[in-house]
Amino acid sequence: MKANELRNGFESLKAVFFDMDGVLYDSMGNNAIAWNQAFASLGLDFPHEKVYLNEGRTGSSTVQMVFLEQLGREANPEELSEVYRRKSQYFEALPAARPFVGMVDFMRRLDQQGIAIWVVTGSAQELLLEGLCLDFPGLVEKNRIISAKDVKIGKPHPEPYLKALEKSGHRREEVVVIENAPLGVQSARAAGIRTIGFNTGILADGLLSQEGAEVVVKQMHQLEQVFFSN
Ligand code: MG
Repeated sequence: MKANELRNGFESLKAVFFDMDGVLYDSMGNNAIAWNQAFASLGLDFPHEKVYLNEGRTGSSTVQMVFLEQLGREANPEELSEVYRRKSQYFEALPAARPFVGMVDFMRRLDQQGIAIWVVTGSAQELLLEGLCLDFPGLVEKNRIISAKDVKIGKPHPEPYLKALEKSGHRREEVVVIENAPLGVQSARAAGIRTIGFNTGILADGLLSQEGAEVVVKQMHQLEQVFFSN
């Protein structure tokens, strides 16, 4: 579907549900490095491409997946929190990821049109979650964030987006999701919400379309074009 055809269906748009990493922040490079280092410190291998392919999972789901694949067993609760602690530590040692240039202005345009802004993320990293309200002042509010703490299963299960629908009170027809990750698109589509792929990483566009993204864009100005005619 072309961008302008998509825009035509937006008369009833009431809210945009944004994913965080790789959509609001240019943070996936750092995530790839941090996950890779955290697993490497335990002698486990988790290459960057796998970080991108599995993006959206909660931290514990990611750790369990790698443990099962490479050690043939589940991680115990101590191991789970230790890997995530190391991942957060490596992440925080890297230069802070910045919001994508133009994202604040894009959100402001949505806000001016009365479109509500929600964030739906699998992250549980405190610093990142706190930073959202500071980096997008007056646009992202704490009570409009669904994070790993609010869900049991997490993406690619529809739970996070269903939670956002429930908490926001919006009907799925009134919402559009912006996602950069295949599993994120899968989650949003499973919740029955129209989804735009914002492909800011190293994976092929086709992986997002394949999961049901209606349109896939790579640049901020293209994302704006999807929503605004000029
Ligand atoms: Mg993401």
